[in-house]
Amino acid sequence: MEYPRTLMEFESRFSSEEACLEYLAQVRWPDGFVCRSCGGRKAWKTGRLLYHCTSCGHQISVTAGTVFQGTRKPLQMWFRAMWWVTSQKNGASAQGLQHNLGLGSYQTAWAWLHKLRRAMVRPGRDRLSGLVEVDETYVGGREAAPGRGAENKALVVIAVEKKGRAFGRTRMAVVSDATRDQLCGFVQASVEPGTTVRTDGWQGYRALKTRGYVHDRILQQRSAAEPYELLPGVHRVASLLKRWLLGTHQGAVSPAHLPYYLDEFTFRFNRRTSKTRGKLFYRLLEQAVAVDPVTYKTLISSDHNI
Ligand SMILES: [Zn+2]
Repeated sequence: MEYPRTLMEFESRFSSEEACLEYLAQVRWPDGFVCRSCGGRKAWKTGRLLYHCTSCGHQISVTAGTVFQGTRKPLQMWFRAMWWVTSQKNGASAQGLQHNLGLGSYQTAWAWLHKLRRAMVRPGRDRLSGLVEVDETYVGGREAAPGRGAENKALVVIAVEKKGRAFGRTRMAVVSDATRDQLCGFVQASVEPGTTVRTDGWQGYRALKTRGYVHDRILQQRSAAEPYELLPGVHRVASLLKRWLLGTHQGAVSPAHLPYYLDEFTFRFNRRTSKTRGKLFYRLLEQAVAVDPVTYKTLISSDHNI
C-alpha cells in the first residue's frame, strides 16, 4: 500500500476528510469490504463513516472496533496526530500535540497519545532471536541506588538483540520484582526458545537453561569490566529510554501508564533504521485499525489502580 514519505506528500495526500476516510477504509479492508455479520463483500456507503452491507443490511462504521471508534473529531486531525508522533525522532508530548493540532484541551491530546500507544504493539509479533542480552533497570524517581531494591521506581526488564557490535530489536516490560518467575516469564514471552540469552550472574535468571534457552551467564567478579560493558546493548537501550522519558515527557509518567510508554519507545526503536518516517505512520495506522478501542474512562481509571 502507498504511504506518504514526506510532509509535503502527507499534506497533499490527506488534504480532505474524504481522502482520510478512503485511506482508512483501504487499510482496514485491504482486499475490499468484508461484512462482520455475514462475510458479504459488497457494501454501499450510506454516510460519512457508514457502510451498508448489501447482502444482510448490517451497517458498520469504518472506525468501529478501531482506535478511532466514537471519535467526534475529524479523521484529518487523527492523521495529523499520527504523523506528528511518528515523524519526530523522539515522538511527542501531550502538550506538544495539543499546540500542534490546536486541540481544545490537554486531556484530549493526552488521551489521543495513549490511544495511539495502544496501537504501537503489533498483535502476534515475533519474539527476539540470535544472541539476546537481558537485564533489569529502575525507571522513574531519582537515580537508582545500587542493588536490587528501590522505592518509588518501576523495575523494567529489557531484552536487546546483539548483532556483532550493533544492536537489533528490543522488548521491554515492567515487572513487579526481580524474581525468577518475573524475569524468566518475561524472557519466555519475548525471546524465541533456543536463543542464547546473556545475563549477569543474578539468580533470577538461573532457570533459563531449564526453560529451553542457552544461558550465557556473565559473572562480574571474573571480569574487570564495568557492568555496562558486559551487557552493552541493554545499557545503551536503558539510557536512551531514560533520556526519552526525561526529555520528551519530562519524567512525568505514572507507573500505571509506564508500560504503554515502553511500547512507544519500542515501536520507535525497532524501526529506527526505516528509510522514511512515513512508513512508521503507515504501520501505526495499520495497527490502529487492528487493535480494540479503549475509552477515555479506561485510560483514566488505570490511574487509580496504583
Ligand atoms: Zn452482511
